[in-house]
Amino acid sequence: MSDTQHFVEIRHARKNYGYIEVLKDISLNVERGQIVAIIGPSGSGKSTLLRAINDLDPLTEGEVWLDGVQVNKKLPHRQYEKHINQMREHVGMVFQHFNLFPHLTVRENVTMAPKLLKGISNEDANKLAEEQLAHVGLLDRIDYYPSRLSGGQKQRCAIARALAMKPKLMLFDEATSALDPELVEEVNLVMKKLAEEHMTMIIVTHEMDFAASVCDRVLFMDQGYVVEEGPPEVVFKNPKEERTRAFLRKHL
Ligand code: ADP
Ligand code: MG
Repeated sequence: MSDTQHFVEIRHARKNYGYIEVLKDISLNVERGQIVAIIGPSGSGKSTLLRAINDLDPLTEGEVWLDGVQVNKKLPHRQYEKHINQMREHVGMVFQHFNLFPHLTVRENVTMAPKLLKGISNEDANKLAEEQLAHVGLLDRIDYYPSRLSGGQKQRCAIARALAMKPKLMLFDEATSALDPELVEEVNLVMKKLAEEHMTMIIVTHEMDFAASVCDRVLFMDQGYVVEEGPPEVVFKNPKEERTRAFLRKHL
């Protein structure tokens, strides 16, 4: 049952922290298989918007829909917990700072959620881990602890961990910002591969070249607004808004 037409739909999203409004009436649709980049200065609300999609930062007002189901439904507490956990199984998130479990091996990091949340057997979980780690080129590190991985390897492990839940949607919040420059490319390549496989992705990034080469659409945010959005060749080469131009002068 659905009364939405879009795969991801954000309707009139507002978010307040106390008196400060950090998201100001944002509406956004993403279609299945689309790859959307969100760019904009620090503090413009990019992370808050991304986190609102799986209700990690609940909106003050507005609705988020994923594949025909409202994510931020008003429900009694226990029903809501069940509902949101189910929704979050469909949404993979990758953060700037990896957030791997340091006391677990790469394999255990990848198998933990599917075992815990989907109750799959050890054998199936191991197969899944091997498959996902091969996909991100990390199979040879399967029994390492995160402390023995490079930043790029840690991030690829975090991506494999998210993919192991077979998400419908992947959210990336500055996944390469904490990496040394020479490690950025190996992570970008994994994201490009996902793009070629038509994974639906929303990617917050400072890397304009990457956004231009991988994304179908670019959204420029400033001070809680979506100032401008469009295909990368328009937003990057021929932006309409002065604020977008000023930002791009600094970042291109
Ligand atoms: P971006 O990711 O674009 O840098 P954020 O979404 O992290 O921006 O933050 C948007 C604004 O919301 C910033 O002004 C930030 O200080 C504020 N903010 C974010 N999280 C909180 C919080 N938990 N409490 C209060 N203010 C917050
Ligand atoms: Mg942020």
